[in-house]
Amino acid sequence: MRDADMSSTYKPALLRALVRCVRGSEANTISLAALGREFTRLYWNQTVVYHLRQAASLSKESSAVKMIRAASQLHGVRDLGALPAAARAALDRKMAKLLQVNVLTAFHRSKPTGMPRLYDWEPGQEAVSINAEVRSFLCSNETPLELVANYHWARFLENTNRLAPRIVQKVERNAAFRRSLKPYLTILRQDSDGLCFYCKRSFGDSETPTIDHVIPWSFLLEDPLWDLVLACSRCNSSKSDWLPEQSALQRLVERNRKLRDDLRRHVSLLIPDDEVERLYHAALSVEWPHFWTP
Ligand SMILES: [Zn+2]
Repeated sequence: MRDADMSSTYKPALLRALVRCVRGSEANTISLAALGREFTRLYWNQTVVYHLRQAASLSKESSAVKMIRAASQLHGVRDLGALPAAARAALDRKMAKLLQVNVLTAFHRSKPTGMPRLYDWEPGQEAVSINAEVRSFLCSNETPLELVANYHWARFLENTNRLAPRIVQKVERNAAFRRSLKPYLTILRQDSDGLCFYCKRSFGDSETPTIDHVIPWSFLLEDPLWDLVLACSRCNSSKSDWLPEQSALQRLVERNRKLRDDLRRHVSLLIPDDEVERLYHAALSVEWPHFWTP
């Protein structure tokens, strides 16, 4: 990885996929189908949930990202588990094909002389072969190898996503872990005048307001009070992970000033107003889906 010439993130992705496929298997081959399936899994969240860019410009975006984005849009899903089985199988097959085109051969290209290969593969073969020594190496070094792959992957993404926060965590995460927002409900209720932050509709007596992240959770990867507002369930689900229009940002900043007066000691409110604005504009600059209106 240290010597790898990286024009895309396929090399760290393949290293992670190899480590995962070897786990729990005694075979001396790994099918391209299995590797393709791991590729889908590895790139899905980064592309669909975190909107990370794997290339310097959209026109140079890697095929893996384009295929995943197309499948997500076609079926209207953000969660890989919600992708219909046939679409998932088709995507995995395309990934397996992609491996044959420009990933498997390129992987060892910048390997220093004398360093053994991790696998052997010839064009046309449906599987890569690994010997017992490599199997043992991959199995016994699973954690450090994933760390090395993630480090190089994240380092690459720092250049292609300059303003995205928490890139390391976005690369490491295998699934979206979300904390419960319930503890915030009481605080936010005191301050919302009983109205949805977006459409201003009054919550009915029987309606429990939902908590929404104004700047999407999947961009920030945290739940700070300064970003949380009460919303009706209709606004919350239609907004999804979009950025609202700028007027919502101004209202958020004003709301936070008021919250700060009431809750002086709440640590997550100590963020300066202009930092909230910078984060909003950072999301805009990475072309986060934006300007949702209720
Ligand atoms: Zn609403």
